[in-house]
Amino acid sequence: MLEVLAGIGRNGRTGGYRRDAWSPPELELREWFRQEADARGMDRHEDRNGNLWAWWGDPDRKPGVVTGSHLDSVREGGAFDGPLGVVSAFRAVDVLRARGFTPNRPLGIVSFSDEEGARFGVPCVGSRLLTGILPPERARGLTGDDGVTLAEVMRAQGRDPAALGRDRETLARVGVFVELHIEQGRALTAPVGVAAAIWPHGRWRFDFHGTADHAGTTALADRDDPTLKYAQAVLAARGVAEKLGVVATFGKVMIQPNNANAIPSLVSAWLDARGADEDAVRRLVAELSEGQEVVCESWTPEVTFPAALRDRVAAIAGHPAPILPTGAGHDAGILASAGIPAAMLFVRNPTGVSHSPAEFAEPGDCAAGVTALAAVLADLCGEAT
Ligand SMILES: [Zn+2]
Repeated sequence: MLEVLAGIGRNGRTGGYRRDAWSPPELELREWFRQEADARGMDRHEDRNGNLWAWWGDPDRKPGVVTGSHLDSVREGGAFDGPLGVVSAFRAVDVLRARGFTPNRPLGIVSFSDEEGARFGVPCVGSRLLTGILPPERARGLTGDDGVTLAEVMRAQGRDPAALGRDRETLARVGVFVELHIEQGRALTAPVGVAAAIWPHGRWRFDFHGTADHAGTTALADRDDPTLKYAQAVLAARGVAEKLGVVATFGKVMIQPNNANAIPSLVSAWLDARGADEDAVRRLVAELSEGQEVVCESWTPEVTFPAALRDRVAAIAGHPAPILPTGAGHDAGILASAGIPAAMLFVRNPTGVSHSPAEFAEPGDCAAGVTALAAVLADLCGEAT
């Protein structure tokens, strides 16, 4: 199934994926999801916030056990981050059916919309809207680099942006959520692990202003060059992060007007900061923000997955499976922070590289992930008698 998806949104030169929310490759992946649901005779629908659902059993009769992940990618991302969880969800259903298993609770598969935030800057838009964590009026106004808003993009795809927002009906169908995901660090040495917690993390936009002028005729002493302020901020971020024991990244930068022969007038740069200790992350941002123009674009406090569910999943997924924290954000974390029992399975990443075309998981480990997921779903659903 991953091979079927391998060509969608792939840059043939670099091997990296670009599957921005609501872009043609992402729409193709949505169509693939619908076909996989139909092929299994699952009831499917898209909720008001653009998340895709497929159901085995009737989730309005009693709350279901839901698994899945996302199909969008970061820019120049890898093949596994997101799709591995959705593919494994469909494969786990196949495994259970081949075994003659009949779930006692409805079993759902979800693909959350715009998890990475590659296009509009805010991650987990679909799950944040669903749970009400992201106000719909803010979501509608989110604007991509091309100046087009999320509302305009959705309208162009025949969706109704006025309907965005907290969706109690859809949420009520989710009794418990288990997300399978590729591990994104080097911490997992067993084929399958279980998440303990997601580090607190956020994104901040820094605007460094200067004065546009000629690159040849303006003496160095006469310049107000915002790239120098940006460069100082990058170096400061590294130093403060080391001091406080957190991680900080300026991974996205936009320079105005972006002429090779002009001193820029504006540098906008996005700081991504995370760490095990929330106070340390906040201190880092406060230190770097001093005297700067800074806007917080997203903030997610630490999410600790419920211990009883975590231990139950670990016992079933391994002997038991190792439990580890992660610095990566996930839809499961958003659902957990909204009070829905949630857990995560990680599949080993031999290099630890992620958000890169080099991201990889061994086929044997992916298969182990499906086996573990199927066992967890069977346990949570219970067998109909
Ligand atoms: Zn992901």
